[in-house]
Amino acid sequence: MLYIAAILHPYIEHNIEKMTPTSQLCPCSSNRTYQSCCQPLHAGQLHASSAEQLMCSRYSAFYLGNIAYLIATIHPHQRQDNDEKTLAQTIKQTQWLGLKIIKHSQTEHAAIVEFVAFFQHETVGQLHEKSRFVKEDGQWFYIDGELLPPIKLSRNELCFCGSGKKIKKCHGNVSPK
Ligand SMILES: [Zn+2]
Ligand SMILES: [Zn+2]
Repeated sequence: MLYIAAILHPYIEHNIEKMTPTSQLCPCSSNRTYQSCCQPLHAGQLHASSAEQLMCSRYSAFYLGNIAYLIATIHPHQRQDNDEKTLAQTIKQTQWLGLKIIKHSQTEHAAIVEFVAFFQHETVGQLHEKSRFVKEDGQWFYIDGELLPPIKLSRNELCFCGSGKKIKKCHGNVSPK
């Protein structure tokens, strides 16, 4: 996931002190508990078995403010000196609402995952990105991503936030600015 601090205005800051108890639903919108989803990856007990799973765990790490995990899952060649600072800024400025995986294609050593991460900014915003991943020594890494225009959502589909309600009854304002 790209750092979206650059596309957000700097004046919104959220107090990120969210700790997801293990028995609660995972932030990645998988509808599973954190314990049975992204937690073992964040804890270093498991490696992601697919690029899609890595993508989801990186989203959860953004949500939870787990900077160490975000850096560890960037391919070493792609890491920058200011990663920690940029990530901290993005995490502080962003209130994430949900994740929707659009497409996922994977070969043995490379993968592309297209997704939308929804966030609350004056209205609901979308980070629609096509991310590249590679697998090295049995481990998936994030390489980089290409930003795409926001997707159109039907007001009658279930809300991306996982509330179980239709979009029009929940985070209804989804049109791009
Ligand atoms: Zn998860
Ligand atoms: Zn919602």
